[in-house]
Amino acid sequence: MQDTIKQPLLSVVLPAYNEEASVPRASQVICALLEQANIRHEVIFIDDGSKDKTWNAIETQASSCPQVRGVRFSRNFGKEAAIFAGLAQAQGDCVVVLDCDLQHPPEKILEMYHLWEQGYQVVEGIKSSRGKESPMHTLAAKTFYSLISNATGIDMSRASDFKLLDRRAVDTLLAMREKNAFFRALSSWIGFSTAQVEFEVQPRLEGESKWSIRSLTKYAVVNLTSFSAAPLQLITLLGLVVFVCSVVLGFWSLWQKLSGRALEGFTTVILLQLIIGSVLMICLGIIGYYVARIYEEIKDRPRYIVADHCGGAADDGQAETDL
Ligand code: UDP
Ligand code: MG
Repeated sequence: MQDTIKQPLLSVVLPAYNEEASVPRASQVICALLEQANIRHEVIFIDDGSKDKTWNAIETQASSCPQVRGVRFSRNFGKEAAIFAGLAQAQGDCVVVLDCDLQHPPEKILEMYHLWEQGYQVVEGIKSSRGKESPMHTLAAKTFYSLISNATGIDMSRASDFKLLDRRAVDTLLAMREKNAFFRALSSWIGFSTAQVEFEVQPRLEGESKWSIRSLTKYAVVNLTSFSAAPLQLITLLGLVVFVCSVVLGFWSLWQKLSGRALEGFTTVILLQLIIGSVLMICLGIIGYYVARIYEEIKDRPRYIVADHCGGAADDGQAETDL
C-alpha cells in the first residue's frame, strides 16, 4: 500500500436496479481488469431500490473484495439519482460511470483512463452503434435526441452515460443543486477538456432492460424540460397561429355580415370554440408542467435517500441523506 499511495485512485460507479445476476459478473470482470492493468481502484454499486436480491449480491461482493462498496437507496429513485449518489460516494481522482449489465464494455475503461492520464478531464463514451432495438424505440430515441440536441446545443445522438470524469468535473457536477439533473447532458454542458471513446453497445446477458415505454416517455419529458424552455415558447407560436387564423376568419365573418349572408356561421363558431379551447388547454398543461417542476425544485427534497452502506469505508459517518 505504501508504494502505491501516490498512485491515483479510479472510482467505478455502477447503478444497479434489479441486477442480482449482473452484479457478481460486473464486480469480478472490472476488478480483474483493473488489477491486471495495475490501476488503484474502488468499485461502488448503487442499489437503486431493487426488488430482487441485488443488495445481497453487492454485500457478497463487498465482503469478498475490499475494493467493492455498496450503497442502498430506500426506494427506486431512478438511474440519474443513482449516478449522482455514486459520484458523491466516489473518492477517486477520476470516476468512471457505467451500466451494471456491462452493455458498456469494461475494457474501454482502460482507454478512458489513459486519456485521463494525458490530461483530459471528461472522457465520453460514444456509441458507434445503438445495439439491438426495435424500430419504434430507434425512432423515439432519434426524435428525443434531436430535440435535446437542439435544446442543449450539444450533439447527443450517440451520447451515453458511459463516462470518465476528473475530480474537478465530478465536484462541479455535485455542486449543481438542480434535482432533475440529466447526467448525460450536464457532463457535456460543464465543458472541460473532453475526449471521446467509441464503443459498441453489448447485448445484455442477464435480466432485461428496465425501461418501459412509460418510463422512457417520462425520462424524455423530464430531461427535455429541464434543459429547454422551448415548449413554453411554442405556446407563443401557437397563440400567433391562432391569432392569424382568427383575423382571417374575422374578416370573412364581417364580409358575410355585410353582404347579408350572416346566419350560416354555426359550424365555424363550434369549430373555433373547439380549436381555441383545446389549444388553451394544451398551453395551460405545458405551463402547469413547468410550474410543477419549479415546485419540485423549490421543495428542495434530497435527490435520493440512502438506507444502507456496505464494504470499504462504509462507516465513515457520512450523512445518511446525501443531497
Ligand atoms: N438502472 C437504475 N435505476 C433504474 C433503472 C435502471 O439504476 O431505475 C440501471 C440498471 O441497473 C443498469 C443501467 O441503469 O445498470 C441501465 O439500465 P438498463 O440496462 O435497464 O437500460 P438500457 O441499457 O436498456 O438503456
Ligand atoms: Mg442495459
